[in-house]
Amino acid sequence: MNSQKTILIVEDEKNIVDILRFNLQREGFRTCEAYDGEDGLNKARTENPDLILLDVMLPKMIGFDVCKTLRAEGNNVPVIILTAREEESDKVLGLEIGADDYITKPFSMRELTARISANIRRSGMAAPSAASAAASAMPVAGELSINTDSHQVFRGGAVVELTQREYELLTFLASHPNKVYSRVDLMEQVWNYGYVGSDVRTVDVTVRRLREKIEADPANPVYILTRRGVGYYFSV
Ligand code: CA
Repeated sequence: MNSQKTILIVEDEKNIVDILRFNLQREGFRTCEAYDGEDGLNKARTENPDLILLDVMLPKMIGFDVCKTLRAEGNNVPVIILTAREEESDKVLGLEIGADDYITKPFSMRELTARISANIRRSGMAAPSAASAAASAMPVAGELSINTDSHQVFRGGAVVELTQREYELLTFLASHPNKVYSRVDLMEQVWNYGYVGSDVRTVDVTVRRLREKIEADPANPVYILTRRGVGYYFSV
């Protein structure tokens, strides 16, 4: 087994923390816990976690402010927002302020550990060297190439820093060129979300952030295009 990974749980509902701690430790993770936003921010700085599970409504400082502060400090630790199913705006806002992913309460532990593992794997992926990873990347379209071994995306030979969510969406669309997917299709097929509802708006956020990173002119994209009223597709 790899060296033990540390998950910081920032959540004020003690029973949820207890369930998370029990299950994550059973999965082989080390955990540390914070029950309010200020303590969460402090522990994010001092405990050097490999990933943070971050509730939104927290005493002293809300989860969004914790995440925003960390990003402003240049801290790129993967953050998964824990949100209630009915709080659709939380998911959209969470992704917009730099969270990597979200999961809705109540969640299954299997779903949660799958998202945790995917997000940790990605951030821990130490590129052998950007140059050799770029050289062995597969061209997909235009200046874009993807190295699926190192999970890296390159634009004109330079690494594009993507979140796990953005990487998954791009590689899915690029592997089905010119096929249009609805937002519901993408939620189900890219991220295996069983319940979709109004969460489809998070697809739009992820597409917008992806375009800002891979497109020369995000307002006039050439890679990920919109088929109005239908969905998105990767154009080649
Ligand atoms: Ca809470």
